[in-house]
Amino acid sequence: MARVVVLRLGHRRERDKRITTHCGLVARAFGASEIILSGEEDNAVMEKLKDVVERWGGPFEISYVKNWKDFIKEWKERRGIVVHLTMYGIPIQKAINEIKEKFKDSDLLVIIGAEKVPKEAYFLADFNVSITNQPHSEVAALAIFLDRLFQGKELEREFENWKVKIIPQKRGKALVKRDS
Ligand code: SAM
Repeated sequence: MARVVVLRLGHRRERDKRITTHCGLVARAFGASEIILSGEEDNAVMEKLKDVVERWGGPFEISYVKNWKDFIKEWKERRGIVVHLTMYGIPIQKAINEIKEKFKDSDLLVIIGAEKVPKEAYFLADFNVSITNQPHSEVAALAIFLDRLFQGKELEREFENWKVKIIPQKRGKALVKRDS
């Protein structure tokens, strides 16, 4: 099956540590296979995400790329299509069918930004996609994009090699723990 990889551009260690962590958590929980961080290298964020995978399961990879432009060019040559989430783009409801058609036989890279996204990202992307044309958050944009792409099937995803897992309850909390 084709894979979805998230590329988080422009991470700033101090300002973005929480929101970049949330981008990784949402990427994993909503069906992406990997998050690649770019901008300032940040071992603390990467370790935090790796720890979540270790405890809550995977597969989900976390890595860092310095030269994101070369990475995107290589992705387009060898792997597949590139979607950049931006409030300036084409509304998701207009773009999603074409994206899904292409996603049938190629991997998909989703780019999300932090503060100002360099204009090259807009030109390297195959699709610049908006989730409404209002300013909000990369975390929300990523969640909605993945949900539309996977049509809700990501909500059923079973993770492998988990050490903790929630047993859903009407009230209260129930967890199973195991060594794996
Ligand atoms: N003003 C910034 C710019 O010039 O790109 C956007 C900053 S915003 C806080 C951070 C990221 O959230 C953006 O790069 C984009 O990926 C995502 N984002 C925010 N609003 C969005 C929207 N309406 N549709 C899609 N993505 C959005």
